[in-house]
Amino acid sequence: MKITDVRVYVTSPVKQPFVLVKIVTDSGIYGVGEGSKNGRELAVASLLENHIAPMLIGRDPGAIEDIWKLLYRGAYWRGGPIQMSAIAAIDMALWDIKGKVAGLPVYSLLGGPTRKGILTYYHASGNTFEEVAEDVRKHYEQGFKVIRAQVAVEGHPGGYGAGRGPNPERDKAQEEQLPYEGVWEPEPYLQSVAPLFAYLREQVGWDVQLLHDAHGRLTPIQAARLAKDLEPYKLMFLEDPIGPENPQSMQIVRNASTTPIAIGEVISSIHQILPMIISETIDYMRCSPIHIGGITPARKLAALAEPFNIKTAFHGPRDISPIGDAAAVHVDMSIENFGIQEWGQQSDEVKAMIT
Ligand code: MG
Repeated sequence: MKITDVRVYVTSPVKQPFVLVKIVTDSGIYGVGEGSKNGRELAVASLLENHIAPMLIGRDPGAIEDIWKLLYRGAYWRGGPIQMSAIAAIDMALWDIKGKVAGLPVYSLLGGPTRKGILTYYHASGNTFEEVAEDVRKHYEQGFKVIRAQVAVEGHPGGYGAGRGPNPERDKAQEEQLPYEGVWEPEPYLQSVAPLFAYLREQVGWDVQLLHDAHGRLTPIQAARLAKDLEPYKLMFLEDPIGPENPQSMQIVRNASTTPIAIGEVISSIHQILPMIISETIDYMRCSPIHIGGITPARKLAALAEPFNIKTAFHGPRDISPIGDAAAVHVDMSIENFGIQEWGQQSDEVKAMIT
């Protein structure tokens, strides 16, 4: 079997554009993959079209590991978020082809199912504690057993990660496809998070598991304070307490409390998260297949984390289409140290695009 065509699609059934790939073979079997990179879609698409697609024509689509190494090392320049997303799209499509050739789901080819289904978490947010509690209750009643909770910071309506309120400046930035430059005030944020979780425990009890995302905005000592403040509310994890640039800084957060820690959604290299795995300063790693280079490295990373008792919590919001979600779920289904999968419920328009 040989690859005859690599087609790249940038499509936007809702506001967020997806970068999708279709690898066509001379047998008639094709595979699909995804390299969506929120805010950098055209960079990934250009790399795929101009540099990667010509390298693949005529190759055996079954040689996944070999093609992965060719794309990673063959350009001399290694890694980086754009390149790893482009490689991810190709890797997913090749696994899709392999599954179709074998007549087996990809999770079966990765070692077989380790569970009957996967635990997911969904986001709840609001401009007030009352709104967040109402949103948590709503999603819990829908069946989500684990829920991420974010509240807008007082004086900053429609704040990051809790942006349900009106915010004309953010809407304008989105319209112009530019990043929203909101004001960030760490102290009011730090003072609001623990009281939110105290309120939620009072209102929704202890059956629902809760977590919170700090979006990598804190310094290590601020993050340590937050992890300590949140300890009484027994979060499943505190996500991205700090950015990923200085892996050794996580030790400062780790030493402060027993609040479990998750990181990884903006990490595009196994080598960048490895120090935090080996030092056991995190509990969940969130490097999803779509941003770490595909199913192949995600599976390897899970295997590396397993002996350190670190579980997965792959990134999976709505800016990843059902194709990227499917790749993550196949890895989730096949690994021993699966923890949880972030889940963004897709609109009918996006579902229609895939079917
Ligand atoms: Mg996050």
